[in-house]
Amino acid sequence: MPMNVKPIPALDERINDIRLRTAGIVNEWILPNEDRLWRYDRDSGEARTEAHDLRQQIKAVVQKENLWAPHLPEEYGGMGLDFLAHAYMNEVLAYAMGAASLFGVVAPNSGNQKILLKYGTEEQKRKWLLPLVDGTMESGFSMTEPDAAGSDPRSLQTTATHDGDHWVINGHKWFTSNGIDADFFIVMCRAVDDTGELGRTGDMVQIIVPSDTPGVNVVRGIGVWGRPHSDHCEIVYDDVRVPIENALGKVGQGHQAAQDRLGAGRVFHCMNSIGQMWRAFDLMVERATSRQVHGGLLKDKQFIQGFIAESYIDIQAARLMTIHTAERVDQGDPGARTDISAIKIFVPEAYSRVVDRAIQVWGAAGVSNDLPLGAMYQGARTLRIADGPDEVHKILIAKNVLKRYEAGESWDFGN
Ligand SMILES: Cc1cc2nc3c(=O)[nH]c(=O)nc-3n(C[C@H](O)[C@H](O)[C@H](O)COP(=O)(O)OP(=O)(O)OC[C@H]3O[C@@H](n4cnc5c(N)ncnc54)[C@H](O)[C@@H]3O)c2cc1C
Repeated sequence: MPMNVKPIPALDERINDIRLRTAGIVNEWILPNEDRLWRYDRDSGEARTEAHDLRQQIKAVVQKENLWAPHLPEEYGGMGLDFLAHAYMNEVLAYAMGAASLFGVVAPNSGNQKILLKYGTEEQKRKWLLPLVDGTMESGFSMTEPDAAGSDPRSLQTTATHDGDHWVINGHKWFTSNGIDADFFIVMCRAVDDTGELGRTGDMVQIIVPSDTPGVNVVRGIGVWGRPHSDHCEIVYDDVRVPIENALGKVGQGHQAAQDRLGAGRVFHCMNSIGQMWRAFDLMVERATSRQVHGGLLKDKQFIQGFIAESYIDIQAARLMTIHTAERVDQGDPGARTDISAIKIFVPEAYSRVVDRAIQVWGAAGVSNDLPLGAMYQGARTLRIADGPDEVHKILIAKNVLKRYEAGESWDFGN
């Protein structure tokens, strides 16, 4: 079923135009080809080549329509959108499974592009950012380690030792997404600099590591959700030598760069989830209005009406929270940090609930590979861990709220 997108009267013409043109591509090119397109990840041989060619064709259509890389400034080949416009666009494009990659805004590349933009030198931008934007390079972000808590990045153990004109990296990472295809990794390390020339020993630094550097050992694509392999990779960095100028920003900026990288991305991830919720919702209603059980249509049973109503409430609540957060980020409001954590918790939970109900309404078909609901269910659950688990965000919200009260203020409603 094509998605139904009409202009929203409260929005300006520019955002409505972006939404409608995005919907046009999703309806015409992506939804009818969804199954063929995702063979790129699942199959090998001819089906994979065919999927690859179709993906390239769609990317060319997106670029011609000037809908490529909404998160990047125009001088770097993007659309230069503010958060609000980008959020509204993502809601529409994410109706189709995995469509973000066809619009040039897919993790981990999009997050890496953002930190290269903010912290990269002109030379780093030329060498790494531009090919990443035009799609001739792929990248990974290597922070999480099996032997240290990913939810507490300050505990990471990978070292980058200053040795003359080089950094020498040693460490063990895992869940580095896109690790199979990546041409380079941005690796989060702890600096060891006995000379003190580059910074303090123990401080965090992010370093660009080409994936073909000797000592970069991609051990495996970790199996997830019952699948034997994925592109979330375990990687051992064993005496990996890269030039000093591969540091991204200064020693000591690594932790902040990781926060910058994830912070913005969370708003777009949430809007992606909302696009997926609309899809699950449409599927649920489609089945409820056509399936006969016990002498009547599902839609006439009150249990099912409850599913529909609760899902509508979940989507609207998640959507309005996320739009509000995008507006605050655009205004440069420091309070937006609390709201980013709030949506990072609420939206994946709401997404899980909506998909769970859609699966229930479809019965056995709901868990089959004939529908995208199973993949959505896994995606929603995973989002509660990736980019910082729920508990860490709850701690941050409580800390920000309590800080105000401890300073003798109460919470400013509406802000
Ligand atoms: C599909 C997927 C893709 C990923 N991609 C990447 C990637 O590209 N690059 C990368 O570097 N990482 C990636 N990650 C890793 C992800 O960022 C980490 O899994 C996440 O930060 C949690 O770290 P951890 O797994 O080490 O869990 P731990 O830090 O061991 O935490 C385990 C659990 O402890 C609980 N917990 C943690 N802190 C507290 C607390 N203070 N109070 C109470 N409970 C707490 C939480 O419930 C948490 O889930 C990915 C993960 C997944 C699942």
